[in-house]
Amino acid sequence: MHKYEGLYAELANVDGQGFWFCNLDVQDANKDKKFIISTKLGFSQRYENVIIDDSYDLRIELPYDYPRKLPIVFNVDGKIPNDPNNHNNEKTGLCLATTAEIKERLSQTSGTFIDFVRELIIPFLYAHSYKQQYHKYPWPPREHFGEGILSEYKDFFNLRDLNHARDFMKELHKYKRPIKGHNICMCGSGKKFRDCHQKKYLERLAYYSNREMRLDYCRAMKS
Ligand SMILES: [Zn+2]
Repeated sequence: MHKYEGLYAELANVDGQGFWFCNLDVQDANKDKKFIISTKLGFSQRYENVIIDDSYDLRIELPYDYPRKLPIVFNVDGKIPNDPNNHNNEKTGLCLATTAEIKERLSQTSGTFIDFVRELIIPFLYAHSYKQQYHKYPWPPREHFGEGILSEYKDFFNLRDLNHARDFMKELHKYKRPIKGHNICMCGSGKKFRDCHQKKYLERLAYYSNREMRLDYCRAMKS
């Protein structure tokens, strides 16, 4: 397997980004084909007019084949309680965004580990610190777990509500890949796929794989 390269050089040069790594330790977990990055991640970030300075102890598991596979991020100093309201799960770590959202955001960058920190970890930590201080989120958070996935589908494909998103996902998974344009669209409009949701579907297939879609489908159906 091709191993993610350039990590050490990236970690050594984050000047001017408004975040920094203290007590950085990187283990190469060869057997598990990933790096284990332990650090206190400090930041000074501004959103609208609110500047927040804070830091969190993290353990980040970075797969060798990132960005195809995504990192898992754990908060190890207990600042973020392990519960759905804080989008934190003991086993799966911080729920930074849905897989589709993460992939979409990374697709707009060069896909380095530092891009992941800047685009996904830092906004999550900022939002948590903001909530501690102001008792609300700086931007509307996603629903938890499976519902979050449904709500992202709803937004992306412009569907009526979570039930419509659920039906859409179910239909989507009945078709053999690649889905042909002459099929009737899974949204229930009665139109052909190519005249309805195919364009949006192909747009996201550029960064969000069929495998990831299947995993999200299973998670969403549990909600
Ligand atoms: Zn449609």
